[in-house]
Amino acid sequence: MIPHPQKESAIEKRVAIVTGASRGIGRAVAMRLARDGRHVVGIARNEEQLAALAATISAAGGSIETAVCDVGDGAALAAAIETVAERHGRLDIIVNNAGITRDGLILRMSDEDFDDVIRVNLRSAFVACRSAARPMMRGRFGRIVNVGSVSGITGNPGQANYSAAKAGLIGLTKSVAKELGGKGITANLIAPGFIESDMTSVLPTALKESVLPAIAVRKFGVGDDIAAAAAYLTSDEAGYVTGHVLQVDGGLGM
Ligand code: NAP
Repeated sequence: MIPHPQKESAIEKRVAIVTGASRGIGRAVAMRLARDGRHVVGIARNEEQLAALAATISAAGGSIETAVCDVGDGAALAAAIETVAERHGRLDIIVNNAGITRDGLILRMSDEDFDDVIRVNLRSAFVACRSAARPMMRGRFGRIVNVGSVSGITGNPGQANYSAAKAGLIGLTKSVAKELGGKGITANLIAPGFIESDMTSVLPTALKESVLPAIAVRKFGVGDDIAAAAAYLTSDEAGYVTGHVLQVDGGLGM
């Protein structure tokens, strides 16, 4: 973990950690939260892409720092979150977005592919919620957003590991919402449908064409669609929304 501190003193802005901020949906969320006046802490493994994000946000007048961290390494993730909270004297928002796929039919899915997806997509969010809870409780304010998937609601052939992780995130989110609601902390889950990103660009064209008719709005989503939902759920105004699963899927998961 290599932190890139910008400020060492307490900060007035709401501090928002976004995991998986180097590209795709997480990048769009980081850009949006920075535009909305948050101090963003972008976490991912790719240092170059994080640096590019930081340059873009800084050039637009936003406030950003980055931390290179593998969220699958629980100790490193906890340390990264605690460092941010200590440095700024606060932690207001966390968007647990980092995720991977290791698709395969169940007969051929290895234990390793199952465990990797659970570790990166589910256990990381558990570690992040646990680490974020204390500073959020201290501030009597918190907005936790976990990024799930429509696959976690409907299931998906070839994604037993991914769907299990994403379904697990729903249980995690609702439990955290019930535990921490009395402390001014909300926890919600965004379930994206089919969003254009590196994760989906590798899928065969035939598969994409077969999905399109099942999407009510007849188009794939973009990162900004998820970022808009994250902006709302992490806003001060969303304090009465918790334990909610918000499908942002163009109607795919109906
Ligand atoms: P993406 O383009 O593949 O980006 C994934 C992000 O997660 C990258 O920033 C990546 O950064 C980060 N990441 C992956 N493994 C990591 C690790 N071990 N430690 C730290 N960061 C890690 O995927 P995306 O489409 O933006 O997906 C973002 C989230 O949305 C995921 O949770 C995904 O499951 C969910 N989702 C996506 C779709 C979709 O259609 N795209 C649909 C439903 C749900 P580094 O490689 O730099 O570490």
